[in-house]
Amino acid sequence: MSDTASPAPLKLFNSLTRSLETFEPIHPGTEGDANDPPEARVYSCGPTVYNYQHVGNMRAYVFADTLGRVLSFKGYKLSHVINITDVGHLTSDADAGDDKMEKAASREGKSAWDIARHYQAVFEADLARLNIRKPQHPRATDYVAAMIAWGKAIEDKHCYRLDGGLYFDVTTVPDYGRLARANTDEGEGRIESVEGKRHAADFAIWRTTPPGETRQMEWDSPWGRGAPGWHIECSVMSAELLGHPFDIHTGGIDHREIHHPNEIAQNQAHACGPDSGARIWMHNNFLIDRRGKMSKSSGDFLTLQALVDRGFHPLAFRMLCLQAHYRSELEFSWEGLAAALVRLKRLVMAIDVLKSRHAELVTASIAQPETAARGEIWTLKQVQGDDEIMAGFRSQVDGIDKTISDDLNTAVALVTLDTVLSIKGATLGPALKFVDAVDSLLGLNLATLARADLRIRPITATITEPEIEAALAARKEARAAKDFARSDALRDELAAQGVEVMDGDPLGWDWKLEA
Ligand code: AMP
Ligand code: ZN
Repeated sequence: MSDTASPAPLKLFNSLTRSLETFEPIHPGTEGDANDPPEARVYSCGPTVYNYQHVGNMRAYVFADTLGRVLSFKGYKLSHVINITDVGHLTSDADAGDDKMEKAASREGKSAWDIARHYQAVFEADLARLNIRKPQHPRATDYVAAMIAWGKAIEDKHCYRLDGGLYFDVTTVPDYGRLARANTDEGEGRIESVEGKRHAADFAIWRTTPPGETRQMEWDSPWGRGAPGWHIECSVMSAELLGHPFDIHTGGIDHREIHHPNEIAQNQAHACGPDSGARIWMHNNFLIDRRGKMSKSSGDFLTLQALVDRGFHPLAFRMLCLQAHYRSELEFSWEGLAAALVRLKRLVMAIDVLKSRHAELVTASIAQPETAARGEIWTLKQVQGDDEIMAGFRSQVDGIDKTISDDLNTAVALVTLDTVLSIKGATLGPALKFVDAVDSLLGLNLATLARADLRIRPITATITEPEIEAALAARKEARAAKDFARSDALRDELAAQGVEVMDGDPLGWDWKLEA
């Protein structure tokens, strides 16, 4: 294996420097010591659990999961945290407006705690449906004592008190807002003012409950009974769970403007130095629709469940995300999602064909190809150490490593998958293994996804299976008789019932009825 290409350096786009940087882990481990592997520690800002997540939010977690998979593939032991914001996030990112949790509680007539538990459970189920590996999910409310301790530590040098609580003075740290690249003037226009703040960009570390009011979620603190600000939770939880400095902090690009600059300011204050707390700050771009950025405040936002209700498998949404670079805006459309589903189907079908041809060849005495890391992430080392894979697909192995190391170019990695599946005369066992390795990187679950899984009945469909079969047979006759007007009319009728007829597609129609 001496002629194996050396691994491509992993390049990631760091929003702090606005440039591609080679990933150098803070904990490189000891070469050759399995007990001391190189580590990658990643923190992703998680959901505020006051409502369902929309598919734009889920794009942020598909991105974070893809990053995690790539780090695992490159041989790093991954520690990944996605926090759960169950307290403290106001309707404006900048500490004005209502508390999102309390507002949801009065909207739904439940306690803020019940709201948080409910939406956290839905969020975790959505992560699983998107095949996002389970990270750690700490809740902000379990870290309030640590947040108070952090506030006490930075209070004297960096904070001031107002009736509303303890505020952070952004001029007390060097270079505030360098992540946003907007000097504070540019940011100021977007920040709602709070009476008495020294600078528009100053933000709350602690929000004291106004006299005469009570909040459902409140704690005692040196600054009165109240609740922590939103930004402090991510500084505290990343420090507690990953240690500062850690390797990579992720979030949606909106966080580059206020939330992450504020986290950095708190981290600098706490460390009494210029260190931002994380070495690399990465941001996914927005999922947009025709009205612009998908957001919860617009009310009628799309959830993953809404996609499923329309007959789309959740992994079609993952495919849609992977087809675009995470730093590009991605426009959501039903047509785009339908195309992503078709692409996923074609992959599943091609793998099915490969599997059945392989099964025919394999005699009882020869084992099925064992996926070295079934259900887990293959590492590049494992792939390069597999002589069979290397004999058949050396250039594709090098290609996928370069591609994915180039700031997670998943769109091109998908093309490699297509290429491998279309190589005529490829040795089947190694081809299946290699596909499994690439899939473990992309997370499309191709190893276990079956064609039938991808047929999902739209929630509004009322047609029965015999009715579908009858309509399809009638349409076939009409086509044979070159009565295209009738054949088109039948296709339209079926489409209105959520049955998509795809001529020339062996899947025929798109969904199955429940038994
Ligand atoms: P939130 O629950 O609003 O705190 O958002 C959770 C995550 O989703 C954050 O990382 C946001 O930056 C990200 N996010 C919000 N809207 C979008 C969008 N339309 N597209 C992509 N990411 C988004
Ligand atoms: Zn955060």
